[in-house]
Amino acid sequence: MSEYQFKKIKPPEEGELVRIVDGKLVVPDNPIVAYIEGDGIGPEIVTVARRVLDAAIEKAYGGRRRIVWWEIYAGHKAQEIYGELLPRDTLEAIKYTKVAIKGPLTTPVGGGYRSLNVAIRKALDLYANIRPVQYFGQPAPHRYADKVDFIIFRENTEDLYAGIEWPAGSPEAAKLREFLKKELGVELREDAGIGIKPITKFATQRLMRKALQYAVRKKRRVVTIMHKGNIMKYTEGAFREWAYELALEEFRDHIVTEEELYSKYNGEMPEGKILVNDRIADNMLQQIITRPWDYDIIVAPNINGDYISDEANALVGGIGMAAGMNAGDYMAVAEPVHGTAPKYAGKNKVNPSAEILSGCLLLEHMGWEEPVSLIKEAIRRAIADKKVTYDLARHMPGVEPLGTKEYGEALIEYIKEM
Ligand code: NAD
Repeated sequence: MSEYQFKKIKPPEEGELVRIVDGKLVVPDNPIVAYIEGDGIGPEIVTVARRVLDAAIEKAYGGRRRIVWWEIYAGHKAQEIYGELLPRDTLEAIKYTKVAIKGPLTTPVGGGYRSLNVAIRKALDLYANIRPVQYFGQPAPHRYADKVDFIIFRENTEDLYAGIEWPAGSPEAAKLREFLKKELGVELREDAGIGIKPITKFATQRLMRKALQYAVRKKRRVVTIMHKGNIMKYTEGAFREWAYELALEEFRDHIVTEEELYSKYNGEMPEGKILVNDRIADNMLQQIITRPWDYDIIVAPNINGDYISDEANALVGGIGMAAGMNAGDYMAVAEPVHGTAPKYAGKNKVNPSAEILSGCLLLEHMGWEEPVSLIKEAIRRAIADKKVTYDLARHMPGVEPLGTKEYGEALIEYIKEM
């Protein structure tokens, strides 16, 4: 049992907990998985996602495995039940189950939280934001969309995102300017807002380790370190150095660096090895458009990761398909990239694919790969048969869109037929 006493929720009596044994995640056949419905369109898409995941698990394992779902609360539902947006019960429940899926949450305007999502990531030290970008045949603006298959590992805890900054004219900014001038001989204008960009070896290397573990497990081809180290030498440049260092120290048998590829292997990748290379951020933002086939797994500090994941999703047709997961060493919370789409809330209209594919990341994290293949194939078939929600239908002349729920049912039908 958890040491913590839950106040207003109770773990399900059936089902077992995911555990950590000898540094490994051990998943029972009936794991308890926590879920947060979230705000706006959240409840609709999370409900459909859970149904589709359940159907795929049932199909893949014939009843031998199943998820025991446990509802926990954040956002408006938590406000109603607890009188606060992110109760301690919720954070403790995720620590307890280690695996969770959530819908989007409204970012409260003013006061308290910068964002509930950020608060959850911080409280649980979910340091890797993992965003796959894959093409399923949907209408896409890019002529090479079918060549896009990336997974972005974006650092979640530091860089400018850590929010260490002070406004122009504040006493803190004045103090800092004074310190910089006196102690380090750096002069800044009086009207400078000041932000600090910390990047550590610790955070860089744990992210790189996670990306390489994934690459090895999933037999991926290339891991690219994205950085602007030519200009920001001791932050982004160090990110590059530390990432290579970790790759060579911990994954020597699995990887070949780009330098080695030419110095030792005459430009021919040896069978079964993963190429580790690096690219400067601005160049790379162009190259994923002009040469998407060169990219596979992308490891980036926070801000680069933010830009490239949105750009990459745009190549394959946008937000309704964009999945994500925030992960620590063991804990993981899956969530789509998109927000609460308030104007569509309760209308049974939006695309639940991003939420469903986020759930697939969670299944992969748990080592349940078979249902993921079924779900991805069902999405491919639905799109090929033009059974899609409005966001895709509007780019397919003459196609009548399905509702959120009906699209989910169509996916389940495809899964059952496989
Ligand atoms: P949004 O992602 O909610 O919407 C952007 C656009 O995409 C809108 O046109 C919306 O209708 C459309 N859209 C979003 N999801 C879709 C789906 N599944 N299918 C089809 N179309 C979809 O972004 P926003 O309007 O900037 O933000 C709304 C709220 O969501 C804000 O409170 C914001 O803070 C919050 N938000 C939360 C998260 C999160 O919980 N992780 C992420 C982003 C934004």
